[in-house]
Amino acid sequence: MTFGSPRVIVAGAVLLFVLGIAPSSAAQPAPAEPQPLSLDDLAALDALLEEDEAESAALLDAGAAVDVAALGLFFALAVYSFVRKDDRLKVASLVLAVAYLGFVKASLVSVVDIFGAMRGTLPAWTDGQAYYLLIGFTLATTVLWGRLYCGRICAFGALTQLMDRVVPARLRVEPPAWLDRRLVYLKYAVLAGAVLYVLGGGDILVYRYIEPFWMFTLSGDAVMWTLLAMLLLATVFVRNLYCRYLCAVGAGLGLLSNLTVFRIKRWRECDTCKLCEKTCEWGAIDGPKILVSECVRCDDCERLYADEDRCPHWLIQKRAAARAARG
Ligand code: SF4
Ligand code: SF4
Ligand code: SF4
Repeated sequence: MTFGSPRVIVAGAVLLFVLGIAPSSAAQPAPAEPQPLSLDDLAALDALLEEDEAESAALLDAGAAVDVAALGLFFALAVYSFVRKDDRLKVASLVLAVAYLGFVKASLVSVVDIFGAMRGTLPAWTDGQAYYLLIGFTLATTVLWGRLYCGRICAFGALTQLMDRVVPARLRVEPPAWLDRRLVYLKYAVLAGAVLYVLGGGDILVYRYIEPFWMFTLSGDAVMWTLLAMLLLATVFVRNLYCRYLCAVGAGLGLLSNLTVFRIKRWRECDTCKLCEKTCEWGAIDGPKILVSECVRCDDCERLYADEDRCPHWLIQKRAAARAARG
C-alpha cells in the first residue's frame, strides 16, 4: 500500500478528524469542534481495515507460493544432480543449499521438528506449506534412496562438504575404523538423550546446544559461537565430524534409512576391492557392505561403480573381452 493511495488519504482525514485536528484554513480562525463519528464513518473505517487485511493475506499467500516454488525448483535440481550422478550439479546444489536454505531461509530439518511432532506443536498447514514440503521431501527421499537430505539439501551438511573440497588433504585425520564404528553411535545417544529430556519436561531450547543450525540466523550467544567455532575447526581435521558422530537429525534419518527401497548396487568384485571404501568420506562402506544408516547418497562410490576405467569389475570384463577377441 502506498502513502498516496486514496484509502490512506481518506483514513488520514478521518483520523485527523477524530483527533480534532482536521485541516483548517485561514478563513476559519477558530478550529471546528470535533464531531462524534457517525455510523457511516465507522462502516467506512471497517471497510478500510477489512481491505487492508485482505491485501496483507494476499501478500502472505503470494510470499508462501514463491517459497514453495523456489523450494520445489531447488529439490528438482538436487534430485536431477543425484539421478545424473553429476558432480558439478551436485556442487551447485550444495552451494544453493548453504546460500538459499541456509542463509536466506534458515530452513533446515531440526531436532525441534522431532520435539514438535512429539508434542503435537507443528505449524498449521496454512502457515507452513514450504515447511511441510521440506519435511515431506526429506521423509520420502529417505525411504526411496536413503539420506539424500544429508547429502544434498541440509545447509550445514552442504557447508561441511564444501569445506571438505577446499581443505588440503594433508590436514585430514581419519579416525581408525574400530573407533569410527563406535563413534557413529554417539549421535543415537544424542537423539535419545534429547528426546528423553524433552519428554521429561525439559526446555526445547536445548536444541541450540546440540545442533549448530542456528548459525544461519547469525543469532547465537557467546557460548554458542564458541562451541560452533570449535566444531568447525575440528571439522577441518575430521571431515563431516558433526554429521557422522553427533547429529540427532542424521541419527533419526539413519534409522529411517533402514527402509530404503533403492539401494546402492554392488559387484561381486566389491567383496575384495577396497576402492570405494577408501573413497567414501562418510565411513559408510565396510568391506563389500554399504552401511545404509551412515550413507548420505553422495554418489562418490556410485560414480566409481560405473567407471569403466577404474572399477575392477569393468577392467576384468575388458580384459576377458580382449582375451576372447585374441582367440
Ligand atoms: S547429519 Fe545432520 S547436519 Fe549433517 S547433513 Fe544430515 S541433518 Fe544435516
Ligand atoms: S571400485 Fe568397483 S569393484 Fe571396487 S568397490 Fe567400487 S564398485 Fe566395487
Ligand atoms: S561414497 Fe557411497 S557409501 Fe559413501 S556416503 Fe557416498 S554414496 Fe554412500
